[in-house]
Amino acid sequence: MSRTSQQHSVNGSTQTRASDVYGTLIFSGDTMLKRLPSDVYASLQKTIQDGRALDPAVANTVAVAMKDWAIDNGATHYCHWFQPLTGMTAEKHDAFLSILGDGTAIEKLSGSQLIQGEPDASSFPSGGIRDTYEARGYTAWDPTSPAFLLRNPGGVTTLCIPTAFVSWTGEALDKKTPLLRSIRAVSEQAMRILKIFGTDKGVNQVVATLGCEQEYFLIDRELFKQRLDLMITGRTLVGAMPPKGHQLDDHYFGAIPDRVISFMSKVEERLFELGVPVKTRHNEVAPGQYEIAPTFELSNIACDHQMVCMHVLKMTAREHGFECLLHEKPFAGVNGSGKHNNWSLATNTGINLLDPREETHHNLQFLTFLCGVIRAVDTHADLLRASIASAANDHRLGANEAPPAIMSIYLGSMLTDILDQLEGSGPKKTIKGGELDLGAGTLPLLPRAASDRNRTSPFAFTGNKFEFRAVGSTASVAWPNTVLNTIIAESLDAIATEIEKKAGKNASAAKLDATVRAVLKEIVKKHRRVCFDGDGYSEAWHKEAEKRGLPNMRSTAEALPAFDTKKARDLFNKYSVLSSKELHARAEVLMELYVTVVGIEARTLATMVRTQILPAATRAQCELADAVGSSRAAGVECPDEENALRSWVNSLAKMRAALAELEKAEAKEYDDTAKHMRQCRDEVVPAMAKLRELCDGIEKWTPADLWPLPTYAEMLLDR
Ligand code: ADP
Ligand code: MG
Repeated sequence: MSRTSQQHSVNGSTQTRASDVYGTLIFSGDTMLKRLPSDVYASLQKTIQDGRALDPAVANTVAVAMKDWAIDNGATHYCHWFQPLTGMTAEKHDAFLSILGDGTAIEKLSGSQLIQGEPDASSFPSGGIRDTYEARGYTAWDPTSPAFLLRNPGGVTTLCIPTAFVSWTGEALDKKTPLLRSIRAVSEQAMRILKIFGTDKGVNQVVATLGCEQEYFLIDRELFKQRLDLMITGRTLVGAMPPKGHQLDDHYFGAIPDRVISFMSKVEERLFELGVPVKTRHNEVAPGQYEIAPTFELSNIACDHQMVCMHVLKMTAREHGFECLLHEKPFAGVNGSGKHNNWSLATNTGINLLDPREETHHNLQFLTFLCGVIRAVDTHADLLRASIASAANDHRLGANEAPPAIMSIYLGSMLTDILDQLEGSGPKKTIKGGELDLGAGTLPLLPRAASDRNRTSPFAFTGNKFEFRAVGSTASVAWPNTVLNTIIAESLDAIATEIEKKAGKNASAAKLDATVRAVLKEIVKKHRRVCFDGDGYSEAWHKEAEKRGLPNMRSTAEALPAFDTKKARDLFNKYSVLSSKELHARAEVLMELYVTVVGIEARTLATMVRTQILPAATRAQCELADAVGSSRAAGVECPDEENALRSWVNSLAKMRAALAELEKAEAKEYDDTAKHMRQCRDEVVPAMAKLRELCDGIEKWTPADLWPLPTYAEMLLDR
């Protein structure tokens, strides 16, 4: 079928059927089958599907096939695509061009070029692992994540080969390597649980599954370009609230504006081609805010696809005259953006291990995994919290719109009832949801879930998976998932060990059953304090959580030191996810990132106040002074204008003082990053808030024709 016949013209724009283009730009599935000799294909599949080590002998053949496929699809260059500790992706393009001895130009990608790259590692953050002069680093092909062709709107096509990135000394300098290690760790421990229940037959590994709902804002690109704060920091550092925000609840799930849906459709088409199975699109709570969500995939692939998704959103927005804002809090006083991290464990044969099934009280294996999660989140709440800590997420967490910084689990009434039973004399029944009769004869009877939903919980059970809702919208999800998989691995390890020890070898079914119940009972008793089904936004919960002894780390400065503890080192070492040096490096990089971001924001705000806001306000002052002067000259008293002028001058004086205070706080230098981080939180961030408040007050009274920045109303309400 020709490309044109696949497209349907809708009001002048085109739509493409997902199934026609799905996966056409990835080297996997049918493409691989068609282009690889069968033995090479089979060998590669063993690595991809069963987690076996890659046979280096197949690399040359794969490289040639991949290159030919890429060139057939218009690619001229390839790159090792990796995820350094910046939290973004990195790529260095090389042409396929190779010049032979006789001067002939050929196109080439060798097996060794596919498997290994050698980018200069010195300019990526290493958290002290490497000195700047120590430059050598390697990238290593991850055959489990399909290579893809990234095509920009101008048609430039590049073969991207997902890779891990390590230092010459072997330490991981990226987000993928520890993620892959954590996936292996959780698989090993989960397999022990399956073995205990005798359900491991035919199962090669347990996989983590992941589906990330991405929230974002769209604003007109022309307006974006007029705001230094958005261009530099991704968020507005000043801006008074418009008369209308989301009070009317008229945006959430509202009709999607035409221009936006054309954009969404193009994003989807591009992502389908790249094998990213996006499925859901809708308006979010705030004006100008939207969401895109995929069908879940294997965690490693989902993490790569999440990075690709953010890239495609940004690229396509520009093409449509929008700017896509992925920041956690682009607009103060307006809902922020998150990235709900839907996570579960499944066998490689496709059985979801967090599916409670019909008669949950009989499903001891599910209850074991459930208790594993409860134990992990309670034991390592500090690490989970730290895994999502960033300067940007500080504006969102706990701000009465996003989950609080207290890590707790929502289970819903059905599972809460089962925990009660586990803690008592053992689970004997499962609460059923029943049916909903809507009272109108023509409407169907609806099956009702046994539990409600709770959007205030940072870690909610949502039927057959957990939704980690505190992850920020710009975050790379690889790191929170590395932490999550590792703490779950540790918890499953502890539970498996306990059951094996208590039940002994070859235990009878009855003995095993009694042992499991006893072990789970102890876990519930000890760890259910982390479970909370009520309103996570409420003051009452903050008090209650404190009583329960749950940590409440309100800021990044409080959260990040959790990675620099013996408890964390022991955990990550034990499961070979990160060495102490690698873990320390991550803590260091995250702290550095925090102080760097806050510093950039502070300087951006100061620049805007000095060069845009104060000058505009001074012009407004001249207008007022002129009004006073000319009224007086005309012999008319104008006490109101005089008062207004006096108070205006007063406000500008306060603004100048607040600006000086901010610049002083920002200029302080520190050798100790942790100390610097605390100073940023205690001095720089509050100084910015104070200056902003004054600016927003001034904005409300500045003549519209003098205000130098696009307003919140212009950016958010115009579609
Ligand atoms: P919600 O109503 O909470 O948005 P959805 O059913 O739309 O729930 O799911 C949200 C995300 O969760 C989707 O990306 C979906 O693919 C993902 N998801 C569903 N099941 C699983 C699972 N077993 N493991 C991981 N993610 C899952
Ligand atoms: Mg959801």
